[in-house]
Amino acid sequence: MGSTDLLSAGRSYLAIPGPSVMPDSVLQAMHRPSPNIYGGELLELTESVIPDLARVARTKHNVAIYIANGHGAWEAALSNTLVPGDRVLVPASGAFARGWGDMAAGLGVEVEVLDFGLKAPFDFGRIADVLAADKSHSIKAVLGVHVDTSTSIRNDISALRTCLDEASHPALLMADCIASLGCDPFEMDDWGVDVMVAGCQKGLMVPAGVSFVFFNDKAAAVRTALPRVSRYWDWVPRTEPQVFYHYFGGTAPTHHMYGLRAALDLIHDEGMDNVWARHARLARAIWAACDRWSDIEGEGLQLNVRDVNLRSHAVTALWLPSPNGTALRSWLEEKLGLTLGIGLGMAPSDSPEWHGHFRLGHMGHVNGHMILGLLGGIEAGLKALSIPHGDGALAAAAEVVAGKEG
Ligand SMILES: *Cc1c(COP(=O)(O)O)cnc(C)c1O
Repeated sequence: MGSTDLLSAGRSYLAIPGPSVMPDSVLQAMHRPSPNIYGGELLELTESVIPDLARVARTKHNVAIYIANGHGAWEAALSNTLVPGDRVLVPASGAFARGWGDMAAGLGVEVEVLDFGLKAPFDFGRIADVLAADKSHSIKAVLGVHVDTSTSIRNDISALRTCLDEASHPALLMADCIASLGCDPFEMDDWGVDVMVAGCQKGLMVPAGVSFVFFNDKAAAVRTALPRVSRYWDWVPRTEPQVFYHYFGGTAPTHHMYGLRAALDLIHDEGMDNVWARHARLARAIWAACDRWSDIEGEGLQLNVRDVNLRSHAVTALWLPSPNGTALRSWLEEKLGLTLGIGLGMAPSDSPEWHGHFRLGHMGHVNGHMILGLLGGIEAGLKALSIPHGDGALAAAAEVVAGKEG
């Protein structure tokens, strides 16, 4: 006998911060037999995807494509710019900054992490001090995570460029936009970013498996001066291929290219500025609801990032008194077919506190009714589990969606 209180049949909703919801047009584009990889349609399609990716990144420079997740793009970016013994500076507002730094350490690079904790953005004064003290320019790159998906803090990447310029420091500025690309405004060339890494499974709405390294002429010159580069990660053959096969260092990620073509069509049809504005509005609807839920006496729901100007439009990190975060996630998944993200890097996974942290992904293919559904689901979960919460959350979110923000 089936349970009578299960409301999970119907289309499920994966509201985690990557992989994100895939548009039907992406799924349909991928549902096909393998194409020829030596000639025909796939070649033209790939050559059309490259300039369109650069448009999303707001760069006129190069992009290398890898059959890899975001970790692969991290390693690719480092492998083309650094050698063992080089030094990098990693300002950190969460687990992903530490992760990228750790990957550099694994390549024999000396890593200096400036850790700003889990609730604060980069402290540019401290970054400037480290750069000013580096008179010999031993720091070869600054690795800045734009949106740290673990904390949902959005850092000011253009201010990192200002820091480097004011110190007349030649280090490369490298940005991780894996969570933010296609969600939070980002301007690679205007902000003076030399290398940017992104993945396809978040704002770009394609299943995980392809990632990108964008790089400008300054970074290309650094690569050229290196004594050697890992053959597989080398971005030169991928951006100046002698034959099509070289674009991908081997067999093309055939289906991903079709999916990506469809996703880029959606983005460019909507328009980059509109895509950003949609993410901003939907994020504000989420925050409005969260503010109401938080409005109780005693301990209730908390947004990890207090300052709205430091919040990402792609992901929101939240906390409920433990173990209510985990209880809410489990209830929503089982009863409603709605999956929220786990907390990442906010507390040891074997600690009771871990069960307080959770995250909402609102990146890519999301619209007003999905976000209102997400929030309505959470409201139902809070009630079902008798988790204390303030009233009026859905009404507040609806006002934002309706364009009637106070
Ligand atoms: C998701 C993410 C990564 C890791 O990407 P994977 O595809 O899981 O390897 C790195 N950095 C940020 C900011 C991310 O959001």
